[in-house]
Amino acid sequence: MLDREIAVAIEAVKLSCKLCSAVQKTLVTAETMAKKDRSPVTVADFGSQAIVNYVISREFPGIPIVAEEDAAELRLPENDELRRRVVHQVQHVIEEMDEEAVLDSIDKGNHGGGASGRFWTLDPIDGTKGYLRGDQYAVALALIEDGKVILGVLGCPNLPGDSVESESNDGTIFAATKGTGARCTLISQESWSPVSASPVTSAADAAFCESVESGHTSHGAAAQVAEKLGVTAPPVRIDSQCKYAVVARGEACIYLRLPTKPGYEEKIWDHAAGWIITTEAGGKVTDTTGADLDFSLGRTLSANKGVIGTNGPLHDQVITTVQSVLG
Ligand code: AMP
Ligand code: MG
Repeated sequence: MLDREIAVAIEAVKLSCKLCSAVQKTLVTAETMAKKDRSPVTVADFGSQAIVNYVISREFPGIPIVAEEDAAELRLPENDELRRRVVHQVQHVIEEMDEEAVLDSIDKGNHGGGASGRFWTLDPIDGTKGYLRGDQYAVALALIEDGKVILGVLGCPNLPGDSVESESNDGTIFAATKGTGARCTLISQESWSPVSASPVTSAADAAFCESVESGHTSHGAAAQVAEKLGVTAPPVRIDSQCKYAVVARGEACIYLRLPTKPGYEEKIWDHAAGWIITTEAGGKVTDTTGADLDFSLGRTLSANKGVIGTNGPLHDQVITTVQSVLG
């Protein structure tokens, strides 16, 4: 079951990682970082979405896609130069894609999601801020059926195979399908092994991770949660859904995403792939109240508040503590 879907999803994400890595290595420079120039991630975001949508819709033409970007801006005459750069980068990876194929593929991501049937959801570059700093980011693709995530692939081109702190930067890819566990491989090797969440049962021995960006999660509330839980290790700050990968492979036990803005609705593409990878590795993911994430409500998780991921055994204790801090 899902053998062909997962194989195609892995292939699509690997091709996109190739483009994202090439663009990050060549276009993200000391100068772009100093100027906070977003153009490298703009090129890679459109290019990544063009590639993934092209591959999955070629193989599964009937399955709609919910993706972050659309090509309206890219079609404008004043964006000729940007469009040329995107097409050029895409053609390095998939030679046959011309400008029309690139624009059409990007626009295939306009589905509204919902509770019935199958659709893909894609974040072409999750963690754009990390991407622009030369840090962690992810290409996140998931398949949702009748509102439930049934498959996910997370390409993490800068995440070392062993530890996020390690010097190597081989890049890893994680994959999971419902009921069959989670696995990972170095992108360069295609040698898969199972991943499993940490068996730790005492919060004092746990490490927790959170966003680098304080606009995406409350660092202050997380510090209070950590203190109440007796966590002594400092937070591991990582951009993107790489946080889910790090919990899935047991490197951290807790992922806290505590709301900073009342009314912010998390996007389904920011969580679907990470959710299934952590869950299939034996971990647990809910919102800050302990409710399951509801992927059936359209493009956002409108019924949920924030996100908490854990190794599993620590989940109830973490939720109780988060509730006592958030009030
Ligand atoms: P991260 O890399 O984990 O910090 O998350 C990156 C994602 O945060 C982006 O893809 C955005 O969709 C999402 N985001 C943007 N604003 C917020 C917000 N106020 N709260 C939570 N997530 C946000
Ligand atoms: Mg994102």
